[in-house]
Amino acid sequence: MPIRVLDPKVVSRIAAGEVVERPASVVKELVENSLDAGSSQISIETRGGGVSLIRVMDNGVGIPAGEVELAFDRYATSKIGSLDDLESISSLGFRGEALPSIAAVAQVDIVTCVAGKSVGTYLSLNDGVIENKGSQGHPQGTTVTVRNLFRRVPARLKFLKSPTTENSHIANVVSQYALAFPEVKFTLFIDGRTALRTPGRGYLIDSVIEVYGVEVAQNMLEMRDGEWESRTVYPGITGMVGSPVVSRSNRACLSFFINRRWVNSRLLTWAVEEAYHRLLPQGKHPITIINISLPHQEVDINVHPTKTEVKFQNEHMVFTTVQKAVRRALIELMPVPKIEATATTYVSTPQPRQAALTSPSASVITSPPVAPQTPAVALPVLRILGQLSSSYIIAEGPDGLYLIDQHAAHERVLFEKVKHQRSRQEIEVQGLLEPVTFEVNPKQEEVLKSHYQNLAEFGFSIEPFGDRTYLVRAVPVLLYDKDWAAMMRQLLDSLSGGDWAESIAVSIACHSAVTAGQALTDGEMRELIRQLEQTAIPHTCPHGRPTMIRLSSGQLAREFGRG
Ligand code: ADP
Ligand code: MG
Repeated sequence: MPIRVLDPKVVSRIAAGEVVERPASVVKELVENSLDAGSSQISIETRGGGVSLIRVMDNGVGIPAGEVELAFDRYATSKIGSLDDLESISSLGFRGEALPSIAAVAQVDIVTCVAGKSVGTYLSLNDGVIENKGSQGHPQGTTVTVRNLFRRVPARLKFLKSPTTENSHIANVVSQYALAFPEVKFTLFIDGRTALRTPGRGYLIDSVIEVYGVEVAQNMLEMRDGEWESRTVYPGITGMVGSPVVSRSNRACLSFFINRRWVNSRLLTWAVEEAYHRLLPQGKHPITIINISLPHQEVDINVHPTKTEVKFQNEHMVFTTVQKAVRRALIELMPVPKIEATATTYVSTPQPRQAALTSPSASVITSPPVAPQTPAVALPVLRILGQLSSSYIIAEGPDGLYLIDQHAAHERVLFEKVKHQRSRQEIEVQGLLEPVTFEVNPKQEEVLKSHYQNLAEFGFSIEPFGDRTYLVRAVPVLLYDKDWAAMMRQLLDSLSGGDWAESIAVSIACHSAVTAGQALTDGEMRELIRQLEQTAIPHTCPHGRPTMIRLSSGQLAREFGRG
């Protein structure tokens, strides 16, 4: 065949194929247009899996009579005007391709009316060609009706799945936008049945209830906008994440919206799954709704015709921020066991759970993981008020006063850090300027001999020097300016059976942690609490003693005779 320029009809049908893959794509494009038009109510109706009929009705701004035809021209859009605008798109649409693409593969009717007009404009097209136009009554807004989708494109029709499957894709699209726009009232009718109806009151939880049901909604944790990091540098993250009790066996319930655009992103999926690491069993996936707001120039949405793929300028930053925000919500908001007691009480975890978490079998040595590790407890957000006796941090929490033992808290932090570093063979070691001799008694020598290697794994480099004397060449960085010789003696005296790795880690943590009587700056206290929040078991030190006690607001009220 000689080379020739394709007929415009063929061109538009090829182009349509990129935008309109299946009925759900039509629904997506029409709903996006309705949202861009500022609608507060969007009603969607489909029949026959969306092939026979798709109708989207909105109460948005409408299209002026003189522009309705233009809306069906390729690359006709009211949303951007120049190349510069492409850098700062805040609307969902901008390519001006949806209406012409849909019209190229179906029969389309549109009735639209702008504010202040008593009568609307009507236009009907068949396979992209205008068949009819005129006036028709319509309240302010737009109704687009699409019939007989793909009737002239049998190849496409053949690839469609059963109406049930196509319906579920349609319901998913509408659900996603209902989650992204809780202030919009969505109604979806599938073959005459109401499949979804949101109240449009502006609360995400309402949409969650409609989309996932009450049980899931009760187990969602809300993420607040990035209080924890400076908003000038990081993107804002809001939304909800499911507590691990409501997981699913596929990734369909991970929703991401960037500047309110529904997107797919492997990067974001990965960030979320990292945040749930060890909280969900293998093969289980969370339910999350994550809204990311980013400066427009930091995300390129124009990388795919359906605008569902995006590219971030700073992937690393987006990744860590999302991961941290999700993790934070999970750790902070998972329910803290309630303590019912009249006296001042330890903030403690139920014993069995705690034992399981601190026992050697739960440490990194075990593989494969038998059960998911759920952080037993989470710390509430604490506001630091000051330091008492240079030993305790005084803080205010959502339910009363917290006194934190700075040494015990730091021990917990360092203990987990040391164990973690050892498991990755990342213990930081500090060589001594000159080797130091270290003398031991016979009993200590016995223990030392059998634990050379174990001690080496934790960063001690020790060699025999004859006559119950040893040469120490390096110690863990944490102990460099501490009394590591005293620590070694104590350890050798206590290291009998049991879990030696645990014992060594406890001993290192104990001897390198800040001590009671050490004055701390506000910054140091905040940092300590921040690190404590990130531990698996913040409420106890590795010896099993509490790191904090709490005086609840109720107790305070009672003590002061207010209650
Ligand atoms: P795009 O959304 O990329 O601009 P479309 O082909 O989807 O392209 O729509 C073309 C134009 O038609 C839009 O820019 C908008 O001006 C107008 N339009 C489409 N749907 C609606 C609607 N529901 N309400 C108001 N205007 C609409
Ligand atoms: Mg559009």
